[in-house]
This record gives sequence, C-alpha cells and structure tokens, in this order.
Amino acid sequence: MQSQEDVRGGLRHLINLQGLSRQTLTSILDRAEIFRRLPGQPTYSGQELRGVTIANLFFEPSTRTRASFELAALRLGAQVVNLDLQSSSRVKGESILDTLFTLEAMNTDIFVIRDSEPGVPEYLINHVAPHVSVISAGEAHLSHPTQGLLDMLTIRTHKRHFAGLKVAIVGDLRHSRVARSAAQALATLGTTDVRLVAPEPLLPDEDFPGSQRFTRIEAGIAGADVVMMLRIQKERMKKSTSLDDAAYFRDFGLTEARLTLASPSVLVMHPGPMNRGVEIASEVADGPHSVIREQVNNGVAVRMAVLAIIANTLAQQRRAL
Ligand code: ASP
Repeated sequence: MQSQEDVRGGLRHLINLQGLSRQTLTSILDRAEIFRRLPGQPTYSGQELRGVTIANLFFEPSTRTRASFELAALRLGAQVVNLDLQSSSRVKGESILDTLFTLEAMNTDIFVIRDSEPGVPEYLINHVAPHVSVISAGEAHLSHPTQGLLDMLTIRTHKRHFAGLKVAIVGDLRHSRVARSAAQALATLGTTDVRLVAPEPLLPDEDFPGSQRFTRIEAGIAGADVVMMLRIQKERMKKSTSLDDAAYFRDFGLTEARLTLASPSVLVMHPGPMNRGVEIASEVADGPHSVIREQVNNGVAVRMAVLAIIANTLAQQRRAL
C-alpha cells in the first residue's frame, strides 16, 4: 500500500490506522484535545483550513460521520462541498475517478470518502494529484480510522493510559470496521487485553492483534474497563442469514444486570446508530457509565485535528516545491 505519510513523515492521507506509530496517533489525539469543546461551551472557531476546499463523498449512508466532518471543516474555516452518491450507479472504480477528477479540477484539496466496496480509498490515493489528500470516512467492513481515533480519545480522557486496560468489543465483529480500527489503535497504544465477544457466526475470520475470543458475553465483559458495543449490521449480512432480535438481546444484549460483571468504573461505548433493545438496553445506553454522546463530541474534535494536520502537510509540501 502507498504510504499515508509523506517523505518528511507528515500525515498526507488517512485511510486506516495500520502502520501509524504510537507517536502519530498520540499527536492526533493531543491536537483534538485543543479543538474539543464540551456541549454548551462556545465552539472552537479557527482559520487553520482557510483556503482549503474539502469534498465529502458519501457512497454509503451516514449521519454522525458526515455531519461531524462537515462541522469540523467549517469550524476551521474550510470551504466544503457535500455529495451523497449511490454506489450502485457506479461502474467499478471508473466513475468514482471521474467524480474525483472533476472535483480536483475545481481545486479540491481533500477528499473525505465513505464507500461499501473494499479498496476504494487505496485506489484513490494511487490516483489523486500530488497536492491532494484522501481521508476515509469508512471503508466496507474494513476500516474507519477517525472512529478509531475518537474512540481512543474517549478512552484516554477517562482512563489516561492504555496499558493494563481490559477492553471488550461486543457484537457484530464480523461486519464491523469500527471494531477493526479500534483493535488496531488499541494494539498500537499498548492495550494487551482485548476481548472479542460475539456468537460464533459474528466473530471475524481473521485474528485481531493480541485479542482473545469469547462466545458468552458474561465471560467476555467480566472485569472489563471498557465495553464497546457494536451495531448488528443486517445490511452487510447475507440475505440467507436470519437473526432474531429478541433472541440476540436475550443472549448478548448489554443490560444493567450484565454490566455489574464489568469493572465498577466501566465505560460503555457505542459508535451509533444504536439498535436499542437489540445490542444494548436503553437504561445502559443512557445510564451513568455511558460515554456514547462524548464519543460523538470527540468525533468532531478528532476530525478537526486530522483535517488540520493533513492540510498542514499539504501546505508544507507546496512550500517545498
Ligand atoms: N457508524 C458506524 C460505521 O459507519 C457504525 C455502524 O454503522 O454500526 O461503521
């Protein structure tokens, strides 16, 4: 894969967290902390992206991530264009490049892209002009780097360190790009106790770094410092797979009773959108351990940080020419 960093080590693209150093991840989180404002506080408003044009290309539905990228860009003074597109109307790889070249001709500097087809972000970084960057806002079931970063910021805010943490990732791991990016980031940042918790058919085929597998939620979340719940992604399941919501909640739903098995200071996370009453009980989603809304808040700060860092790399590159 083409590197996400330029020759000077500056972040140029962000399409997954694999291969990024602990120092790079930490510096993104540090920058995000500068931009973060709690709900009710005046938002950070800067000019770090003045003169920068960003195109949000979403070939898959999105609420949080799209709004979050747009707000992040606007709060740093960028010009933004949002396009909701249909993957189905696309001949593999071809018309997406035409869209990209068209927007490049309008002086777009950064593309934010979400797509259900594996490999699209990598394909694009191999084709964009040298002064253009690509950020993935979700690639198939494989990667969701800014979600991974916002999850790490949320954990770091409460737990300070990653070493020694017990993190349970529970639910539809097989189809989850959120779980894959979180597991990569946790491994890089030093967490060695990661539990993958799901009924057998929803566990991933591949191994996640340094993780153990559990097929009973009670065992998987015992003593956990963080319980990361995942949405059941029916849209990614084969048509033949039937899943009974009530039976899933009975066997794997995170209820208040089950949560007592985790650490008394456990954090409950969920990337959204939530299926209340399927993977998580409403009392837990809205309860005292939940940091789900903080994750959303951190998402804007992390995306501001990523955009600002990448725009800085592009500006330095331009100055060096
Ligand atoms: N919003 C997250 C994603 O895009 C999680 C989910 O959809 O379940 O992957």
